[in-house]
Amino acid sequence: MPATRIIRSVCVYCGSSPGRLEAYSTAARALGQALVDRNIRLVYGGASVGIMGLVADTVLQLGGQAVGVIPEALMRREIAHRHLTELHITRSMHERKSMMADLSDGFIALPGGLGTLEELFEIWTWAQLGLHDKPCGLLNVEGYFDALITFLDHAVAEQFVSPAQGSRLLVEGSAGPLLDRFLASGPPAAAARWIEATET
Ligand code: AMP
Repeated sequence: MPATRIIRSVCVYCGSSPGRLEAYSTAARALGQALVDRNIRLVYGGASVGIMGLVADTVLQLGGQAVGVIPEALMRREIAHRHLTELHITRSMHERKSMMADLSDGFIALPGGLGTLEELFEIWTWAQLGLHDKPCGLLNVEGYFDALITFLDHAVAEQFVSPAQGSRLLVEGSAGPLLDRFLASGPPAAAARWIEATET
């Protein structure tokens, strides 16, 4: 039987908006539930708004742990969540992202906007560089990411992204199967040089 990976905390990137469809909110709550069911702590951007806030609210309502990391400058704009297990306030966006990455054993993007996409691509790029070996996943709710997945297949076909890096991003339509793939992804490679990642 293959070794399972220990996943204590998962970082969730997602919209600071609710999005157009109720399905996005439903998926955010389902992800919160799936985390608590597996005793996994949530790490996220620390806001109370959008589907970000919904994931955190669900985790807390179900008795789980939710850790927020928010830059000082965004405290008011994104309306920081006041009832989290922990709220870290950072000096910069860079510090926020490296702390979120450092605190987490895997990364999931739910539907979101430019911030979500930027965060997903950055953490995936760090994996490509060998700076970490933590699983990265996409929750393709209601086909929100279909066009992006098609484009990424195109980037592999055009040989700008290697098939190995292309398949590193795990894609599922719902949270439970995605988290189960994280847990089944085997032990991390020994040589991940995480400290260097946070210094780039
Ligand atoms: P969005 O997906 O645009 O709704 O943003 C989701 C989260 O990403 C929010 O917590 C934003 O603070 C964050 N974010 C927005 N812009 C950026 C950026 N340029 N780099 C990193 N994170 C960002």
